[in-house]
Amino acid sequence: MKKMFAEVKVLVWDFDGTFYRPNPELWHEIREAEYQVIADHTGWPKEKVIREFSSLHKKVYQSATQVASTLAGISPSQAAVEMEEYFDRRKYLTRDKKLITLFKKLKTYRHCILANGVITHYKETLRVLGVSPDIFELIVTSETVGKTKPDSAGFLYILNHTKLPAYQHLMIGDRESSDIIPARDLGMRTCLVWSHTKSRIADTTLASVYDVEAVV
Ligand SMILES: [Mg+2]
Repeated sequence: MKKMFAEVKVLVWDFDGTFYRPNPELWHEIREAEYQVIADHTGWPKEKVIREFSSLHKKVYQSATQVASTLAGISPSQAAVEMEEYFDRRKYLTRDKKLITLFKKLKTYRHCILANGVITHYKETLRVLGVSPDIFELIVTSETVGKTKPDSAGFLYILNHTKLPAYQHLMIGDRESSDIIPARDLGMRTCLVWSHTKSRIADTTLASVYDVEAVV
C-alpha cells in the first residue's frame, strides 16, 4: 500500500466522523439540533418536522444541513450556525494521542479542512483533540462558500486556493455521498475512513483515520 498516493501534496480532511470515530450519541444530538432549527423557523410540531425532514433527507438532499436550511427558509451557513447552538461536539471528545501522532507524521503535507459546520467550533474542537488548528492552512465550510457538501463549491474553493491539479489532493472522509463522490468527480484522490466495508468508489478504504499515514 505504501506510496499509493505518491503525487498527493494536499490532504483535505472532513471533520465530523473523520477526526473522531462516528459517534451515535453525537449524531443523535446533531439530528435533534436540525429538527430544532426547523421548528424555530416554521413553528411546526415535532412530528411534522420529522416527517418533512425525512421526505427530503437522502431523497432530495444528501446533506442534512441542506435539508434543515431548505425547510427553515434560511441559508445553509445560517442553518449550520444555528444548529451548533444546540449541540457541542467537544463534550464527546478528549485528547487523542493517536491523532496527534498522525499529524506529526504527516507534517510534510499541506492540510485543509472541508466540512459543513462552524469554523470557530472546529478550531475549539481541534484544541480538545490536541491538534493545533494552525496545521491547517485553510478551513472551508458553508460559511466560506455558502454551500454544503456534497456541493462542489467547497472542493473548488480549495483547488483554487492551492493552485495544484486535482490529483495532487487526497480527500479523506467518512461519507461516500458527501466526501468521496464530489471529490472523485473533480479528479481528487479519495480515502474513506472508519469503514470495514471496502468502498467501490473511493481509491482506498481504511478501518480508522490513524491508518492514513500508511497509504500516503
Ligand atoms: Mg463526516
